[in-house]
Amino acid sequence: MNEHALKNIPLKLYNTAERQKQELKPIKDNHIQLYTCGPTVYHYAHIGNFRTYIFEDLLRRTIQFFGFSITQVMNLTDVDDKTIRGAIAKGITLDAYTKPYKDAFFEDLKTLNIQSAEYYPAATDYIPAMIEMIKVLLDKKVAYKGGDGSIYYAINQFPRYGCLSHLHLEDLQAGASERVAADEYEKEHVADFVLWKSYDPERDGQIYWESPFGLGRPGWHLECSAMAMHLLGETIDIHVGGIDNMFPHHENEIAQSEACSGKKFVNLWMHAEHLVVDQKKMSKSLGNFYTLRDLLNKGFTGIQVRYLLLQTHYKTQLNFTFQGVESVKSSLQRLNDFIQRIYNIQTLQSDGQVDLLVNDALIRFAEALADDLNISSALAAIFDFVREINCLCDVNQVSQKEAETVINLMKKFDTILGVLTFDKREENIPEDLQEAFAKRQQARQEKNWALSDELRDFIHQRGYLIEDTPQGTRLKKQ
Ligand code: AMP
Ligand code: ZN
Repeated sequence: MNEHALKNIPLKLYNTAERQKQELKPIKDNHIQLYTCGPTVYHYAHIGNFRTYIFEDLLRRTIQFFGFSITQVMNLTDVDDKTIRGAIAKGITLDAYTKPYKDAFFEDLKTLNIQSAEYYPAATDYIPAMIEMIKVLLDKKVAYKGGDGSIYYAINQFPRYGCLSHLHLEDLQAGASERVAADEYEKEHVADFVLWKSYDPERDGQIYWESPFGLGRPGWHLECSAMAMHLLGETIDIHVGGIDNMFPHHENEIAQSEACSGKKFVNLWMHAEHLVVDQKKMSKSLGNFYTLRDLLNKGFTGIQVRYLLLQTHYKTQLNFTFQGVESVKSSLQRLNDFIQRIYNIQTLQSDGQVDLLVNDALIRFAEALADDLNISSALAAIFDFVREINCLCDVNQVSQKEAETVINLMKKFDTILGVLTFDKREENIPEDLQEAFAKRQQARQEKNWALSDELRDFIHQRGYLIEDTPQGTRLKKQ
């Protein structure tokens, strides 16, 4: 496998701010600093959220595939309008309210085989850094105190406001309200936004922090600016999120960070399109959502969900259907059956075509990824390769040595996909055990725990274990 050829392929990514693809050039050495907006931990993340996180995982893995090292930060928004509302409604502290959702999020990342970021800062751990930023913005007269005691950002003091979403302030402000204290709002309501929301005992219960501007709590937009700059520095290589984050969230992040530092905040902005259901964004507010847990309870594996969310280009909306998840099963089976077939090759002969096919497939795969993460073309390169090698296997023209090269290439592909199984399958599992295993899977789906336990005991007595792998459950000899 000629990996040197990869060095000559420039990794190009679409920059939302510039509206064009540009080559990734690190600010420093060979290292990329990546900031990814993380979950608001007021609920379990839904698979729409995970579409964005899987895109970010693809981006992270691709950056590494092309030889860069990486520091990724993904924040946890544990204080905002929604978490405070949730904690008050349940009559518990903010920490007690958000903790189970934080834990669930990390569990879900594992189930989906999403690589860990280097940092997962929680907003509540960075309040002093946020206060410091507000002080600077007040000093620079970009921020002011409103009549309600909250601190606002004066967007007309930042001439570049709107640069990311290409808004023209003059056109927009005519009908706009003067200022907005809510964390989330639409383009029609572009206005001065809140940096520090002053405490209201009725609304906020016991949830507040002390600051030089009075009791209160930070605005959501400020949280990401402060954590990004604190952990990664004033200028970072790439900042990403879902497309709904572009305005106002990322626009406001630019305004805050650049007014503070006087430097460009982000070199490259990327945004993932939404996962939709019947043309509507999957969201908690519309109630049209599935959590990962919902899908696992329906019998799908994390790896199947991962593949589903991965296989469509991130700039194309992905319509969620159960048929879609079903069809993923056969794609995965095809790839994993291929790997088993290659493991079983005993032949010593070949007509020497494999090396060429391996090198071509690797280059095609890499070029597709380098073209703004074109995963559909990258997958097409893999499936074409599988077809070609299968044809050679049919006529016994893949030798054992070449089989090793093929497996190595599949492993290389999987550093990006993260969905393949390289364990050699147990041959000759007795049929009645396979049947018992299938029945147990069914019993679990139907939540018939008594039958499921009974079948498990039967399998154990026969000397086999039921093993959970990221790819699903399987039988293994004890
Ligand atoms: P939230 O927890 O609402 O702050 O969202 C976390 C991340 O998920 C953000 O980057 C959002 O842009 C993204 N997101 C929310 N809904 C969807 C969706 N339906 N499809 C893709 N990404 C989404
Ligand atoms: Zn953010």
